[in-house]
Amino acid sequence: MSDCIFCKIRDGHVPAKVVHRDDQCFAIEDINPQAPSHLLVIPTEHIPTVNDLTVDHRELVGHLYLTASKLARERGVADSGYRLVMNTHRNAGQTVFHIHLHLLGGRPMEWPPG
Ligand code: AMP
Ligand code: ZN
Repeated sequence: MSDCIFCKIRDGHVPAKVVHRDDQCFAIEDINPQAPSHLLVIPTEHIPTVNDLTVDHRELVGHLYLTASKLARERGVADSGYRLVMNTHRNAGQTVFHIHLHLLGGRPMEWPPG
């Protein structure tokens, strides 16, 4: 079995609050939320980092953003505003090496980020 926590959640081997699932991605509630709304939009395919994306992933990346904007509307944070973040490697604090789009909303956020 894969050692990846998001692959395990995808396959139902680890429980999570799954709020969306389709043929290309799924979305879960973050276990350690950093905002009142904190979802992770995760491709079904195991892709370790943004550095591993290829031109073949163009449609998938667009789909992740469209899914995030749909979830932001459903969560009621679309108009108040939200942040979409994909961390890459240590300087950005990436801890799970299966790419995921953080959707953070429901509170004002500082810029530039810390
Ligand atoms: P990153 O640091 O960008 O790689 O983000 C990883 C995110 O995954 C963090 O916000 C964690 O809180 C979250 N996370 C880790 N394990 C789980 C889990 N089992 N269920 C839900 N979220 C998780
Ligand atoms: Zn994975």
